[in-house]
Amino acid sequence: LLPTVIIVGRPNVGKSALFNRLIQRREALVYNTPADHVTRDIRDGIAKLGDLRFQVLDSAGLEAAATSGSILGRTADMTANVLSRSQFAIFLIAARDGLQSMDLQVGKWLRKHAPGIKIVLVMNKSESLDESDGSLAAAAGEACRLGFGDPIAISAETGLGMSELYGALKPLL
Ligand code: GDP
Ligand code: MG
Repeated sequence: LLPTVIIVGRPNVGKSALFNRLIQRREALVYNTPADHVTRDIRDGIAKLGDLRFQVLDSAGLEAAATSGSILGRTADMTANVLSRSQFAIFLIAARDGLQSMDLQVGKWLRKHAPGIKIVLVMNKSESLDESDGSLAAAAGEACRLGFGDPIAISAETGLGMSELYGALKPLL
């Protein structure tokens, strides 16, 4: 039985891009089966990251709920349900967007709904940030305010930081 990792975050941080990279399928999947809420709200696949294999979940349900402005409602309940059956969560934020109020909401939501789950904070869209001009450190410092420790900087688009993500997940999985 593979460990389960759910990717959680506000809309547009790159959850599906990371999911696609982890399952090594590059095309975007479209959810257009409204009759099948599970298919629409949660996608799952087998992630390959170095020698790690885990079940990865793309939590589009939380996203659907979050677009209404608050993380409430049936789809959020469904995500919470799946979350309770996951051992790990990737809390995804996006470096180039800065920390947004919805990120803080997701953090709060995670604290409430994922008390026993190990959470790894991952900062996507980091490919345009630089170590030399301090922009990477500034974004990481801001992300620390979420209270989930230092973020792992990645780019789901370019593959930057995947070995660091591996390094963070390896001792947990
Ligand atoms: P989701 O709503 O969290 O599932 O986000 P998506 O995976 O749909 O991505 C939202 C947007 O961000 C899309 O336009 C992606 O192309 C873009 N995106 C995703 N990952 C990255 C990244 O690492 N860098 C940059 N620059 N853009 C990204
Ligand atoms: Mg998505």
